[in-house]
Amino acid sequence: MKIAIVGGGLGGLAAALLLRQAGIEATVYEQAAVLREVGAGIVVAPNMVRPLVRAGLGERLAEFAVTLEAAWEFRRWEDGRVLFSQPMGQECRRLYGADCYVAHRADLLAMLLEALPEDAVRLDRRLTGLRQDDRQVELTFAGARGESTTVLADAVVGADGIHSTVRPSIAAEAPARFSGLCAYRCLVPAHEAPDLALRPVQSLWLGPGRHFVHYPISGGRLVNVVAIVPAGDWRIESWTADGRIEDLAREFETWDPRLGQLIASATGTKRWALYDRSPLERWTDGRVTLLGDAAHAMLPFFGQGACQAVEDAAVLAACLRTAAPETAAQALLRYEGIRRPRASQVQLMSRGREVHNHLPDGPAQRERDAAFADGDPLRQNAWIYGHDPDTEPVG
Ligand SMILES: Cc1cc2nc3c(=O)[nH]c(=O)nc-3n(C[C@H](O)[C@H](O)[C@H](O)COP(=O)(O)OP(=O)(O)OC[C@H]3O[C@@H](n4cnc5c(N)ncnc54)[C@H](O)[C@@H]3O)c2cc1C
Repeated sequence: MKIAIVGGGLGGLAAALLLRQAGIEATVYEQAAVLREVGAGIVVAPNMVRPLVRAGLGERLAEFAVTLEAAWEFRRWEDGRVLFSQPMGQECRRLYGADCYVAHRADLLAMLLEALPEDAVRLDRRLTGLRQDDRQVELTFAGARGESTTVLADAVVGADGIHSTVRPSIAAEAPARFSGLCAYRCLVPAHEAPDLALRPVQSLWLGPGRHFVHYPISGGRLVNVVAIVPAGDWRIESWTADGRIEDLAREFETWDPRLGQLIASATGTKRWALYDRSPLERWTDGRVTLLGDAAHAMLPFFGQGACQAVEDAAVLAACLRTAAPETAAQALLRYEGIRRPRASQVQLMSRGREVHNHLPDGPAQRERDAAFADGDPLRQNAWIYGHDPDTEPVG
């Protein structure tokens, strides 16, 4: 069976790898002429780690990713007082059967790319047209020099991100929802960063109107910083758009001085406007389906966008493993039936989280912090991290 995957991000590459391991001829068509190493750190939670380990990538992942000893370590903005911390490390392995990592997105992309045969990824192919009948799908691609190519496939997976070109063939077109927030992202060399930021811990500082996240990545050589602040008139959504360090520093000038030190150690910052989408009523039309941000673009507050994309990939491979070209459409519907409810839940949960994180000092903030103090750290996120897509009954 021939599957065409549109988009070579983490979702598309993970899908290609897991489909190929299931014996299916899957090919990625990516619009970029080169898969550039862009982006910054992401949390690779146990629900993403398990499918990657089963795909044989466990050792490779552990080479560059940092194993978290604690996650969701919430701190108070003005003095760094710890409000809550979820033990990871051994506890994580005991509870979820896998580690929780933090890693550079570029290292993850490179790992997936290395694991795929060269002919599995075709670059410089921007999808411009899609047509299906009850036997196959015809895709049309444009190259950077204007040349056009046509490909026939038994089924198509749109893994082409929040502004997917595939999605309008399945769901009504709607603009992405602007959150009013943007993310500043910096990478700080570890030798420049304060000791606090070198611990293998995902730390989140909560304060009025904004929050600040940091954790080490790339084997501990870099500290990844993500600061979520009001966007003002910034609307650019890109891994590569530059922001200004002085603007970022101004956002946190009254906060604990260790954050100022961390910001001052960064040589540059990227700035990204945050958008999401509402859950779709369907992901599939006949032989065409969606995966990753194309299906469920979410805000990053639970660090689950890429994790959900890898869960999608695992279930898609399991559903298609036993399908034939004649039954591909039914297999895609089974995939959607399993994945859509869960991904939609994570998508909705990620929305509005900033209200909780950004409370001004006062009664609501004190109530939130008291609830943190009473929380059972081990129960937090269990429904997300404990979920194993490989145990879903795929029919
Ligand atoms: C600030 C921030 C922090 C985040 N933190 C985390 C985290 O901690 N953990 C986590 O799991 N997730 C996190 N995420 C989310 C995660 O980065 C995304 O969910 C994930 O990268 C989506 O992958 P994808 O492959 O679905 O889409 P994308 O990465 O958007 O890839 C889509 C690909 O499709 C290609 N494409 C687009 N249109 C076409 C076309 N017409 N033809 C061919 N190719 C096309 C694009 O060039 C691109 O390569 C974060 C996101 C942000 C913004």
